[in-house]
Amino acid sequence: MVVDRSRENAFCEVVNDSLQTWGWQEGDELPTAAYVHIPFCRHRCGYCNFSLLANRSDLYERFLVALERELTGLQVPRSVQTLFLGGGTPSILPLPLLSRLLELLQAWLPIAPATDIASSIVSPASEFSIESNPLDITPAFCEICVQHGIDRISIGGQSFQSHKLQQLERDHTPAQLLHAIEIAQEHFARVSVDLIFGAPDESIDDWCSDLDTLIAAGVGHVSTYGLTYEKGAKFWSLREKGALTPISEDCELRMYEDAIDRLTAAGFVHYEVSNFCRPGDQCVHNQTYWQGRPWWAFGPGAARYVGNRRSVNHRSTLEYIKRLESNRLPVDEAEDLNMDQQLRERFVFGMRQLCGVPWESWKNQGPAETNAEIDRLIERHVDQGWMQRVEDRIALTRMGLMVSDSLWSEYL
Ligand code: SF4
Repeated sequence: MVVDRSRENAFCEVVNDSLQTWGWQEGDELPTAAYVHIPFCRHRCGYCNFSLLANRSDLYERFLVALERELTGLQVPRSVQTLFLGGGTPSILPLPLLSRLLELLQAWLPIAPATDIASSIVSPASEFSIESNPLDITPAFCEICVQHGIDRISIGGQSFQSHKLQQLERDHTPAQLLHAIEIAQEHFARVSVDLIFGAPDESIDDWCSDLDTLIAAGVGHVSTYGLTYEKGAKFWSLREKGALTPISEDCELRMYEDAIDRLTAAGFVHYEVSNFCRPGDQCVHNQTYWQGRPWWAFGPGAARYVGNRRSVNHRSTLEYIKRLESNRLPVDEAEDLNMDQQLRERFVFGMRQLCGVPWESWKNQGPAETNAEIDRLIERHVDQGWMQRVEDRIALTRMGLMVSDSLWSEYL
């Protein structure tokens, strides 16, 4: 094979600039978390507008080569405390390609115990998670994951009921989901399941039955989201045409309250607006986002926070691949956050945690006007019963959880 050295050299120049393009400068804290986006699914579920391609196995190889090029921008292997392989559906890759991907990640983003990383880390544990479709969870798949250091699996279950799964256009049955959970539990100590509530026509009984089945399945973590109608998703246009009717807001709130009540009664800790876990089984990786710490990100549409810069890769998988093939970085948008923006974002993301934020110790970090404005908003939201002061922390109340999505725009 003849190697085109001029192309390789040109790419070296590009990747040598990657750290700066991503926002890292000498003296900045190095991220200790990384997200890698695998942009493929078998088909696109009706409610989904994520950055992905359905049924394009012909692109897997080209994507892996492109991803390897993007990772080369790290220049040297960068140890991380947490690694999250999301999508899309990372588990869709044929097992030899999955092994190749995991070897690539082990080489560039080795997982290191927290004590090996010279930066301030709040959570003590390391973690390597993979998102998976129930249909892909076989013993062979799990063994490859475990061999390569994955210690947590997040299963896109969404429901245990046939009619709801069909309506959401999922490709698995309730029996397949339960079987996948069993196989996952035989291989991983940490298993999480995603559940959606508020599908069109879903009743409160349907939802409570989903919660009860999940609790009985014995998983350690659940992420639960109300169905949203995103522009670009099929459900959005169906709703516009009147072919699909969302459930009422009251019904959706009641479902959220049922999730809180049933899961906490079963021993789960409600630790973030949409996340519940058995004591000690919090997702360590996601705390990076909620605590405003930096992270690397790779793959189409992947968003990173490095230095004080937020940057996002191009959403199109084809464009992502083509840019890297032609020695260009796939970064599509970037914004440097000033002190005012950093404090506001840190407050809003932090408030998603049920433990809230230590506002009293943060509040002199930003410009005086920002501190004063956030103080005023907190005062009002405490008076309205949506927030509470717990020693030096500010946290949402139960009432605040019900309206939290509508609060954040005032702080940003
Ligand atoms: S499996 Fe997940 S990522 Fe893929 S189309 Fe469905 S909802 Fe979207």
